[in-house]
Amino acid sequence: MSNSSSDKIYRVALVAHDAQKSRLVDWVGENQDVFAKAAIFSTGTTGGLLLTSYPDLAVTPLKSGPLGGDQQIGALICEEKLDALIFFTDPLSPMPHDVDVKALTRLATVYDLPSACSPSTANLIVRAMRDASL
Ligand code: PGA
Repeated sequence: MSNSSSDKIYRVALVAHDAQKSRLVDWVGENQDVFAKAAIFSTGTTGGLLLTSYPDLAVTPLKSGPLGGDQQIGALICEEKLDALIFFTDPLSPMPHDVDVKALTRLATVYDLPSACSPSTANLIVRAMRDASL
């Protein structure tokens, strides 16, 4: 059956602040078995890095985060077009677009979207995807 839960195409937003980008790229590499079967939406710079590292992944790059990319991902959440948000944030640096970051994580909560802002929680989400229980 092509529509069993194990065949589900997960729609995942992947975003990282600058200080966390290499960490996210490495983490995606560790979980390529899952992301090879996912539709990935990323803010511009994050998405470009993912495509450079993993050209075979289905990554849709949006605007860069500070230029509206976070809000574009927020719109996808509102439209219920995402199954998870993985956002490796940098909690130690001030961000000019901090309000956008807050709005994005707030919407994930409003819509009860599985979301993670750090690798350990992201691991739990990807494990659920791998087990086809998300
Ligand atoms: P970027 O955006 O991937 O375009 O750097 C991330 C962010 O800061 O929201």
